[in-house]
This record gives sequence, structure tokens and C-alpha cells, in this order.
Amino acid sequence: MTIQALPIYRATSIHPGIRPNRTFGQGRTCDALGCTTRLSVYNRSTSCSVHEEIRAYVVRGRRRPREEVRRLATGRAHTS
Ligand SMILES: [Zn+2]
Repeated sequence: MTIQALPIYRATSIHPGIRPNRTFGQGRTCDALGCTTRLSVYNRSTSCSVHEEIRAYVVRGRRRPREEVRRLATGRAHTS
């Protein structure tokens, strides 16, 4: 019986040089006036979820069909 050359498995780190999550400072509070909501250190925004600038909703997971997005956008009050 011969010993076959074993394949060489090299252990490589999946995430070489992995760093801890980037954080954005501890003990920050929401920028909005009078709001004392503590911001998560992982929250890159300067305001809480309630006061953060309204921006395009970031869809996670299922993407809304364009038609639905438009319908939601036009549903906003338009004063001008
Ligand atoms: Zn706030």
C-alpha cells in the first residue's frame, strides 16, 4: 500500500486582517433639537432614526417594483 500524496490544505484566513466593526463614537446623541436619543456607535448618522434626513428608503431584501415606489413617492403632500 502506498501512501498517496495528500492534498495540501493550506489554512487561510477567510477575512485576513479583519478589523472590529467601525464605530462612530460613543455616547453620541441625536442632533435634532431636544432629542436625547442615544445613537448607536454603529449608527453613522448624526441623528436618530426618527430625525435622520428623509432619504430614499433603503430596501433590504425584496426590491419594490418601480411602480410601487412611484406610488409611494407621489403620495407625499406637495405644497408649492
Ligand atoms: Zn432624534
